[in-house]
Amino acid sequence: MSRKPQIVEALGLGPIWQVRDARLAAHPASSWLQAPAQIEAPAPLPMIECASQEQDMAVAMPSPEPASPPASDFTQQPAPNVAPSSTEQPSWEALESAVRSCQLCRLCNTRTQPVFGRGNRHARWMIVGEAPGEQEDRQGQPFVGRAGKLLDNMLAAAGLSPQDDVFIANVLKCRPPGNRNPAGDEIAACQPYLLQQIAHIQPDIILALGRFAAQTLLQTELSISRLRGKVHDYQGHPLIVSYHPAYLLRNPPDKSKAWQDWVLAKRTLA
Ligand code: SF4
Repeated sequence: MSRKPQIVEALGLGPIWQVRDARLAAHPASSWLQAPAQIEAPAPLPMIECASQEQDMAVAMPSPEPASPPASDFTQQPAPNVAPSSTEQPSWEALESAVRSCQLCRLCNTRTQPVFGRGNRHARWMIVGEAPGEQEDRQGQPFVGRAGKLLDNMLAAAGLSPQDDVFIANVLKCRPPGNRNPAGDEIAACQPYLLQQIAHIQPDIILALGRFAAQTLLQTELSISRLRGKVHDYQGHPLIVSYHPAYLLRNPPDKSKAWQDWVLAKRTLA
């Protein structure tokens, strides 16, 4: 029996999934996570208005430095605790529908459309990025811009089909204006959708691309460099951390490190 989960937990790297505030309890995806087995359909979306445009402007201002979100952003994030069995879950279609009409955070004011994900929902691989960019927001698909082309090239190099072998999603389903960093409360509002997607897909391996994906799933503030090169555990799923393709476009020398991460992922899966 693998000792990896115990080791990860002993190192304090594993997520601590606890429901911490009332907002999570009201979240549609979260309520599904906690729903009893006899409930087959999700509760209707709560009528929560988007934040005002003034609020949005206040938060949308990019910070001078892309520093890590304040510790409180992550420590206060709600985190559903368990991946339910398939009998307890709503349908994939219901989840997708909830995302498409979601107004749980201010990003609903500025998005063109939510971006649910692409690929095979029964895939062994799940790739998690940060948030939609401009092209993704327009086309409604994740990773379709230059970063997406690089990701597809990396998938091809790894012998993986983007249609058949992976499901690709982001932490945030809606584009932050100007491609600014996600805010902590936006991650907190949207995270249950991602967790529910993972619970549905039950991937054999998760590749978290970029700081926000890694820190959100692992509930840590450690940097990418500290998180890379290890096999983490996300609720029984091996999780590998690597660089976001958008970062690699700006820092091509790190592509070789990213490839090492993909090799580690393939070796872990094997
Ligand atoms: S980012 Fe997530 S929580 Fe916010 S409106 Fe979009 S789908 Fe809803």
